[in-house]
Amino acid sequence: MVEKKSKKSVGKPSCADPKCPFHGHLKVRGREFKGYVVKKLPKKITIKFERIVKVKKYDRIKKESAKIHARLPDCKREEVNVGDYVRVGGCRPLSKTISFVYLENLSPKSSKEEK
Ligand SMILES: [Zn+2]
Repeated sequence: MVEKKSKKSVGKPSCADPKCPFHGHLKVRGREFKGYVVKKLPKKITIKFERIVKVKKYDRIKKESAKIHARLPDCKREEVNVGDYVRVGGCRPLSKTISFVYLENLSPKSSKEEK
């Protein structure tokens, strides 16, 4: 017998969400961003990140922040919380404001829990 090993069998088994990049048929392509979760809704997260931009005219640097709305698939709902550092990837526009999808949680799991 030959054992079949699929790449997608990592973590939680499956979900019925067609717009899940791991189990559904949503393709992830384009840009990727990393940021902190500032808002969590049942199927959507909002992440915020900062980048440093050089202002040529004044020879200074400044911080620019941006917010991105990303879809949260059903199977990943429990592993994300507000304040986590996560990675999102671009996909096709899923709604008026959402064209990114949650990919993975980058924050360390144990150090977060205090008090
Ligand atoms: Zn899924």
